[in-house]
Amino acid sequence: MSAATHPSDAPIIVWFRQDLRIADNPALAHAAQTGRPVIPVFILDDETPGVWKTGSASRWWLHYSLKSLNDNLTRLGTPLLLRRGNSAVILDQLVAETRAAGIVWNRCYEPFARDRDAIIKSELGNAGLDVKSFNGSLLVEPWTVQTKSDAPYRVFTPFWREARTQLTDVALAAAPRHLTAMESSPSGDCLNDWALRPSQPNWAEGFSETWEPGELGAHAALEHFLERRVKDYAEGRDRADLNITSTLSPHLHWGEISPAQIWTAVHASGDEDVSRDAQKFLSEIGWREFSYNLLFHFPTFPTDNHQVRFDDFPWQGTETQFKAWTRGRTGYPFVDAGMRQLWKTGWMHNRVRMVAASFLIKHLMIDWRRGQDWFWDTLVDADLASNSASWQWVAGSGADAAPYFRIFNPTTQGEKFDPKGAYIRKWVPELAKLPTKWIHAPHTAPAEVLAAANVSLDQTYPRPIVDHKHARDRALSAFKNLKAAA
Ligand code: FAD
Repeated sequence: MSAATHPSDAPIIVWFRQDLRIADNPALAHAAQTGRPVIPVFILDDETPGVWKTGSASRWWLHYSLKSLNDNLTRLGTPLLLRRGNSAVILDQLVAETRAAGIVWNRCYEPFARDRDAIIKSELGNAGLDVKSFNGSLLVEPWTVQTKSDAPYRVFTPFWREARTQLTDVALAAAPRHLTAMESSPSGDCLNDWALRPSQPNWAEGFSETWEPGELGAHAALEHFLERRVKDYAEGRDRADLNITSTLSPHLHWGEISPAQIWTAVHASGDEDVSRDAQKFLSEIGWREFSYNLLFHFPTFPTDNHQVRFDDFPWQGTETQFKAWTRGRTGYPFVDAGMRQLWKTGWMHNRVRMVAASFLIKHLMIDWRRGQDWFWDTLVDADLASNSASWQWVAGSGADAAPYFRIFNPTTQGEKFDPKGAYIRKWVPELAKLPTKWIHAPHTAPAEVLAAANVSLDQTYPRPIVDHKHARDRALSAFKNLKAAA
């Protein structure tokens, strides 16, 4: 049966994935414009082969984001249907139950999602459905930005320069004002039954104080950023002790706000000639685009060294060291503060992410993939493209990566980007009473200073689990051997 022969009341399915919003949602806008009844569905899919199962912290986020999306859809006329399982199987069932005329979605770029979606598109298309996909998550899709010789970009600056030439006219999809429901809606799961939030123990208590998942929360964060923070962004974004960055990353990951909406709002908030701070901010959005570009063209980015010479790197850290890193007990306060911020809030400041990741890879010589997996499970903004590109960037094994020999000194990084130690005092409270002079390296403080601050080394706070100089020399020599062998 072709799409045209479906009865006019045959519904259209809108398959929500990482686009949990109403406004500027091209797939939803298209469905609404058809005038057909709309079935909005979200599938919790842990079963598609190759899927990166949503991590624990992201599941917490997802719970509230779905709740918010359901509220918004219900207000427009039809609630969100929830189903769980292999997406292809669930969609087949849903099409059979509802005799849908079509299905629409906004594209995903993870390798498993692309494979899955291509099969679904072809099978449902062959079954007579009108199947359409849209760009709802990127400013520029990876295949549209290529070098002059039609190769993918591997270096950020020329990628972003070229991408920007396509962004002279960024259009937004209209938000539907009303959605028609099916007369008898299919039944779905109850969100609470998915148990996306932790219970025993409830490690996400600190998340609710920090975040407002959902479209409203996303726009509130953007507004706050543009009103209060962006003016200091270029200088202040690296300061871990100041709240200068937008904290939009989890909202962007789940598509509660689109990069096109951000782009448009930034341009609307200033003159035509956007300020240096706003340009810097947009170039960070550009790094997100670049990460998707890498994942699309090099689908093994989350699993394999992009530079194969790193395949022989002699990873060697111990389980005890890995555990100390995850718990924020390495003896390097800046790293520990970051790892504890991550555990408590599901997010970590970008500068500290770089230092903590570098510490794991270079000081402990633990494989970047273990760090990537830990972040995947604990970040509310866990994103396959940005996470893998960033880990490989820090490791030195990626595209346009930091050179391996640039090894962050975790103490001086703290001194520079948390000069008064406020960030450390907040996240490592057992050091809160130490004078600023000693807070970045408590093990070097005189005994009476430690005693006055109630710090007892190895009891309340650990000594460094590796010596910086020794670790640095060891990493550099491993890298040199690697080069020699290459
Ligand atoms: P802002 O400074 O306000 O930037 C605005 C937006 O730009 C961010 O929300 C994000 O979408 C994007 N962005 C900023 N920096 C980067 C970057 N380096 N790479 C890609 N996109 C960027 N970001 C994720 O969204 N998910 C991840 O899983 C993730 N893992 C990371 C792992 C490591 C080891 C490192 C070093 C960085 C990682 N990042 C990741 C990138 C970056 O740290 C976060 O995007 C940023 O800290 C989010 O905070 P923000 O929204 O306040 O950023």
